[in-house]
Amino acid sequence: MFNKRVKIKELLSWDAVNQEVIVMGWVRTFRNNQFVALNDGSTNTNLQVVIALDQYDDEFLKRITTSSSLKVQGVIIPSLGKGQKLELKANHIEILGDSDAEKYPLQPKKHSLEFLREKAHLRFRTNTFGSVFRVRHSLAYAVHKFFNDKGFVYMHTPIVTASDAEGAGEMFKVTTLPFENTPRNEDGSINFKEDFFGRATNLTVSGQLEGELGATAFGEIYTFGPTFRAENSNTARHLAEFWMIEPEMAFSDLEDNMNLAEEFIKYIIRHVIENNREDLEFLAQRLAEEEKQKPQQERSEMGLIEKLEFVLSNDFERLTYTEAIQILKDSSHNKKKKFQYLVEEWGVDLQSEHERYLVEKHFKKPVILTNYPKQIKAFYMRQNEDGKTVAAMDILAPGIGEIVGGSQREERLDKLEERMKEMNIPAEELWWYLDTRRFGTVPHAGFGLGFERMVQFVTGMTNIRDVIAFPRTPKNADF
Ligand code: ATP
Ligand code: MN
Repeated sequence: MFNKRVKIKELLSWDAVNQEVIVMGWVRTFRNNQFVALNDGSTNTNLQVVIALDQYDDEFLKRITTSSSLKVQGVIIPSLGKGQKLELKANHIEILGDSDAEKYPLQPKKHSLEFLREKAHLRFRTNTFGSVFRVRHSLAYAVHKFFNDKGFVYMHTPIVTASDAEGAGEMFKVTTLPFENTPRNEDGSINFKEDFFGRATNLTVSGQLEGELGATAFGEIYTFGPTFRAENSNTARHLAEFWMIEPEMAFSDLEDNMNLAEEFIKYIIRHVIENNREDLEFLAQRLAEEEKQKPQQERSEMGLIEKLEFVLSNDFERLTYTEAIQILKDSSHNKKKKFQYLVEEWGVDLQSEHERYLVEKHFKKPVILTNYPKQIKAFYMRQNEDGKTVAAMDILAPGIGEIVGGSQREERLDKLEERMKEMNIPAEELWWYLDTRRFGTVPHAGFGLGFERMVQFVTGMTNIRDVIAFPRTPKNADF
């Protein structure tokens, strides 16, 4: 029976001296044929297992290698060595799985994140990824807790969709049609009537449109699931497969939406600060070392935990797109032509460099930009009185850029249909969506938060590939 084992994290949290326990884990290091640093994934803190001299023969001791797995029965005693308060005096050790030290890909030394990405199947066994993925878990738990406590209904929207109307990004096609002798129509186009679903389908880019159907019945819903974008953007903040959280609220306007998003972000950060202190401290230390490699002026002024606490204790800066454009136009950065894309006229989409300037240089805190020009936003966003802008909001975070995109939705059928016509979006395909506006329409709003970008922000990891277990990016779908 295995379930008698105690997790190391738990063991270290109670006064375990003189208790007899069973622990299981993987060997991190073994020195002097006597001291095993054992890790079981519950914490980065290894448990020191002490083997008495002459307790085991050489043949057995040789099998205790980095990443071999052990079951150890023993007694917890106060440690004489420095570095730990307690240690486990082994009475009985069983080797559950051998690990050939010569062949094990992760030697006990410091590896680059790039190297570890190629060994993603084993990188969870390092301290950095141990911390990152425990924090990721904790954030996911906090997401559900936040919405559950507010009475939102968790809705599972489909992964395979037929609507390509949203235009959030390039889509992956889903098909079972053969590549050879593909069924075709008379005009040469592919005959999707022969396909599995009898129509063209793809992987979802967002659950929002279906989410709106839920919100206009339950009042408040959220989704939390995978989304896919076949965009060829090889950046440190884009994945082809990422997780998105999308709340959608009936009886809600743009301001309610911003308030919820800000409260939500602060809530999940606070949850991690309160529950993952040890992991955050490790990640803060890691980040501080990474920052030391950078030139002075590129280093951030705050440490990781300091930054998170700063976010909790300050209101996000709220301003309109129009005000932001003015700030950017007037900035010395723009005047000295330091932007790659100079900001000249109202109406342009903001580039990541502009977003980062606003957040990191100008306001030095998270920023919510509102009321964007309608030309650069989706068809479903509510049109403002001025005829030029829509009730959109993006939240921009230091070091990350856009973390949330949202809006009040257009609830007026005539306005929505008019906008769809202007943007060449076929109304017949979205008949089900338009029905919400036909039968008891209500003001409503929602947003999408990219979960990995949030994990990046909280863990201080600079590349999004290091906060998802097995990243999918252009030309890469290993593991
Ligand atoms: P960006 O301009 O950064 O590409 P977007 O405008 O395409 O973002 P939305 O369509 O508004 O983003 O999606 C909502 C949220 O999902 C974004 O705010 C971001 O946090 C996240 N997101 C979008 N695309 C990706 C991606 N390729 N990988 C990871 N997260 C993403
Ligand atoms: Mn995008």
